[in-house]
Amino acid sequence: MTSRWPLHPAPRPDEALSSWLTRIAVLYTSTVEDLVADLGFWPGRVADLDTSPPDRLAHELSERTGVDGHLIRRMSLSGWSPWLLDSTEPNPHLFMTYTRQFSVLLPAGRLRPREISHWLPWRPSLPRMRACPQCIAETNPPHPYQLLWLLPITLSCPQHGCRLEARDSQVVDFRDWQSRPPTPRTVAPVLLAMDTRTWQALATGKVALQGADIDAGIWFHLLRTIIDELCANLSEFQNARKTVMTAWNEAGLPLRLGLARWHTHEDHVPTMQLLALEAAAAAIHLLEASALTGQGPDAAFFLPRPPRGGADGSSTKPAAG
Ligand SMILES: [Zn+2]
Repeated sequence: MTSRWPLHPAPRPDEALSSWLTRIAVLYTSTVEDLVADLGFWPGRVADLDTSPPDRLAHELSERTGVDGHLIRRMSLSGWSPWLLDSTEPNPHLFMTYTRQFSVLLPAGRLRPREISHWLPWRPSLPRMRACPQCIAETNPPHPYQLLWLLPITLSCPQHGCRLEARDSQVVDFRDWQSRPPTPRTVAPVLLAMDTRTWQALATGKVALQGADIDAGIWFHLLRTIIDELCANLSEFQNARKTVMTAWNEAGLPLRLGLARWHTHEDHVPTMQLLALEAAAAAIHLLEASALTGQGPDAAFFLPRPPRGGADGSSTKPAAG
């Protein structure tokens, strides 16, 4: 018989699972590790709680807390299938399925096929916490933190319009910010526009793009495709090199960050991931302003007319992996 936890804070909107469990653990003067071990799911890594926790964990937590299991699953990356993920299980073909079904900046089929084991979109190889200084300032210890702050998919907090600030490794104790809070940095409108759509996608399942509402899954696939195209090897650009270079120039960054070797976005160090997001935001801005012509058929999503599919664009869904 599972023992219930009579006292526990309610999960907050957008909160990461490790954040919620940390707040419960503090209430019981325990640790996340002990809490999860008590549920029968240890040894493991705290970071895994926010990416791909065991399937039964949400059920066990729901039993203990009475919180809806569906809500608990949404506190981890794997709970966002099929929007953010096509599949929660890595397979060598997932990279192609996810990043290559659309073509925006480059012609379809331009990029060479790649098989990558153990890859999941947006799951960083090197977990790194970033946080919104104003969100933290408005909450009490132990400060809740959001799932999106752990993923290389946003740069800012649309609620406060400021840049997410890096934390040391996976440190989630914000006492240093209580004594010396970072000064919030206003984020450029182009970056904020992209991040607002990402947050809108998770909150509503839809994204407004050039007068049409598209499914959240399409937005995440398009965004990941653009990053893939921007960071492709130089030899793959061919006659589209100027198109890609224009986006990097707009962001004030060197073409594909001057990297010598190709890596997935998820395998890049956090600094590079954020710069790639800036280039993606610049590309989207230029496409929507008709200042850049994407050579792929799916650049149509960013033109001021209905993309392929139904009149509202919502009938085109990414294929399940
Ligand atoms: Zn904030």
